[in-house]
Amino acid sequence: MNFFFLISVVYLAFSITAADASEIKINDIQRPDSAILFIVDGLGSSYYYPEYTPHGMDGSIISKAFTRNLTFGARIIDIKTPIPSTGQAHSVIFTGFSEANEEIVGYPDATIYDITRRYGFVNLAVMEKGDFQTLRDEQDIILFAQNNSIDEPLISIQANKAPSGVFELMHDWKVKLPEYLEKKKGIEKYSAYNKWGIDAANALAGYMEKNHPTQRFLLTVNVGAIDSGGHNLGEDDYYRLIEDLDRDMYPLYTTANENNFALFFTADHGMSFSAKNARRGGHASGNYAKMQESLRIPLVIKASNIVSGTIQGKFNQSDIAPTLMSVLDLPDSLAYADGKNINVKNYASIFVKADKEYSVSLWNNGQKVSETSGSELIFAGLPLDTDYTLKAVSADKTHEERLFLDSDKLVRFDSGKGIDLRGIVAIILIVVVIIGGLLVIKKIKD
Ligand SMILES: [Zn+2]
Repeated sequence: MNFFFLISVVYLAFSITAADASEIKINDIQRPDSAILFIVDGLGSSYYYPEYTPHGMDGSIISKAFTRNLTFGARIIDIKTPIPSTGQAHSVIFTGFSEANEEIVGYPDATIYDITRRYGFVNLAVMEKGDFQTLRDEQDIILFAQNNSIDEPLISIQANKAPSGVFELMHDWKVKLPEYLEKKKGIEKYSAYNKWGIDAANALAGYMEKNHPTQRFLLTVNVGAIDSGGHNLGEDDYYRLIEDLDRDMYPLYTTANENNFALFFTADHGMSFSAKNARRGGHASGNYAKMQESLRIPLVIKASNIVSGTIQGKFNQSDIAPTLMSVLDLPDSLAYADGKNINVKNYASIFVKADKEYSVSLWNNGQKVSETSGSELIFAGLPLDTDYTLKAVSADKTHEERLFLDSDKLVRFDSGKGIDLRGIVAIILIVVVIIGGLLVIKKIKD
């Protein structure tokens, strides 16, 4: 904990630079204005991907959903969570770090939200599960369920810096939930709970487009009733809940498509059953946690700058955050990420981060393609699988970097001039933390 905190302080000290990145578009590119990260709690890809057949723990084949809408865009076939439990798996999604937990989500520059905020996005969320304090604090505004009860749901709003009108809109949706649930029971009620979350998110995305058209946003959604249904209703209702979700997702999918929002569809973890017709499912403990059905998650991406189709290869849930950054053309400067960007984009971008201003030129085949200066630069829209040379010149230092653009690249230039102002700030902060720690220890001893 102390180690992570120290790293965070140092990282914060080094990143106290405003994001005034200048961007050069090398080719005309289409890219999403905003993004929706849609997390279905407890949806195992084994239960609807055409490539898989779900099995119970006894080895028998169990029920599979038939879906039409959940396989759009670029679909990653083999992607797993490193840890099939809700809080940690969500933390992995938000940080791109395979060993993340809820505490790390709160550290500076740990999450996708820290980066989107720095680049002028607002962070909005509608979450039935998977939210926790450090995550809620990352949002400008969040509509969330305080408990996991579908029978007596408790919905709340936490607002930090919401765009105008969003609080009122969320409040209207909070009030609407009882209408969705009344006179329903069993699977119908579970699906209605999910539909409420989807419709609220859809209304929010539509509201932003209409009332704040130039404001980019990242909207995080979690629907919780597939997980709850897997746990409480059993194997024969679980797949029906997936089919209902497939139907109810369509309006949100259309909104994303029509308004140039990227849509990332995924899950925190899957679900496992002991056998066909099992009354209860599980995913987080004992043998349940070891099942492929608990570990395999869907990842389907729709955006104006991606190549549609299936993607082979083995991927980890920690790859989602870097991929989301890439699709939004934001530098993957997630502080703890060990995940890698999955190549879904139809072009590559080069991000330059330097400790001071450089004159940076981009070369291809001995020809200068572009030149600009700054400490934070983005060269967007470069053709994939090409060779480039990046030259950075300052008054006293020259860097040259050769790049093969199989995907986005982040290049850092450091003048190596020893301690700069940010270094001094970092050292002061570290000393303050150490002295503070010693004082606390002394006080406890006294
Ligand atoms: Zn979960």
